[in-house]
Amino acid sequence: MPAATGPAGAAAAESKNNPEPAPAGARTNIFDFDRVSLEDFFENVLGEKRYRAHQVMKWIHHRYVTDFDDMTDLGKALRAKLHQHAEVRAPMVIHEKPSVDGTHKWLIGMDPMNAIEAVFIPDKGRGTLCVSSQVGCALNCQFCSTATQGFNRNLTTAEIIGQVWVAARHLGNIPHQQRKLTNVVMMGMGEPLMNFDNVVRAMSIMRDDLGYGLANKRVTLSTAGMVPMIDKLGEVSDVSLAVSLHAPNDELRTELVPLNKKYPIEELMAACERYVKRKPRSSITFEYTLMKGVNDQPRHARELARLMRQFDNATQMKDAGKVNLIPFNPFPGTRFERSAESDIRAFQKLLLDAQVLTMVRRTRGDDIDAACGQLKGQVMDRTRRQAEFRKTLAAQGADDAAA
Ligand code: SAH
Repeated sequence: MPAATGPAGAAAAESKNNPEPAPAGARTNIFDFDRVSLEDFFENVLGEKRYRAHQVMKWIHHRYVTDFDDMTDLGKALRAKLHQHAEVRAPMVIHEKPSVDGTHKWLIGMDPMNAIEAVFIPDKGRGTLCVSSQVGCALNCQFCSTATQGFNRNLTTAEIIGQVWVAARHLGNIPHQQRKLTNVVMMGMGEPLMNFDNVVRAMSIMRDDLGYGLANKRVTLSTAGMVPMIDKLGEVSDVSLAVSLHAPNDELRTELVPLNKKYPIEELMAACERYVKRKPRSSITFEYTLMKGVNDQPRHARELARLMRQFDNATQMKDAGKVNLIPFNPFPGTRFERSAESDIRAFQKLLLDAQVLTMVRRTRGDDIDAACGQLKGQVMDRTRRQAEFRKTLAAQGADDAAA
């Protein structure tokens, strides 16, 4: 896909309510549209009835058909018009890798310079796809391998929903009939709330019956804590929210998640409270990556339990906050280590004893580097972070491992 011609080239532009118009000479990619914007496109650009958009969405997202000529319930004239103005440009799979535990990872090319990863994780009765929202990440969380690659750009709606399409097609998923893909988590590369409009539009396709038909609670957005955007998300969407906490106090959190300097824990928890209060019976998952000797001590667990109890009180709801403990997944060059199994269990027990709902996320796909924080596409870095990280690795004599 040439970077300068498709909506991909314009993706880093400011957020807008409608997809980027295709540049002159380029055809619009239908993957960029959710139901309402595709209806608008049919009415305003093609001069057609709005419901025609529904037929096209079903062909693409239910039957994985991308050639207008194969969409047999569309008239010849309409198909010709579609060819003239639009295309269905599927993402390019560069490489895929199955894991011994059923996990499946795709490396997907977004333009000639950049690629991202998506991972499918099957588990008793459910199938979860972990989706990326940006090429690299602009945040610099110290324990995440994506951070070491720097940042290039936001993904377009087409590039985000394209990951779901690739996985669903691979699985033979048929919404409402043969459900293989039951959950989507925006937990791949990138900070989804820094690519707000494209992410929200892609999630609307995930939830739409004409798209992947997933219930709100089965689509989860994970954020490092972009406070204003959490409020904005609450205004436009009912998806599940996960918040990457990783530390129970500001001093430690600022060290691990530098964004905490801008939005400290108190402000973050207040935004979470507003999010939960908007939606009766919803809850927020707080992710906490356990790193040996860093944030895994009993005092941290007690401090975290206090924070969660305060959250229950503030929201006047029991279990408004759930904790998801993630044993740290190592990557080359990192200074962190996974906590000992006994410390993980002790940490969980302290929280459970304090009546905090706490799960340990079992590591999946680590034989193919597909576990949390291990995703690593190909990022044409626009920051200096990748180069700096390579220097660190070279100093450790580990640069081959990261190549
Ligand atoms: N930017 C978003 C989504 C991407 S990360 C966010 O920060 O939430 C998805 C989850 O994996 C986050 O909770 C993240 O902090 C965690 N994670 C990152 N690196 C990890 C690692 N090396 N081991 C375990 N979990 C990690």
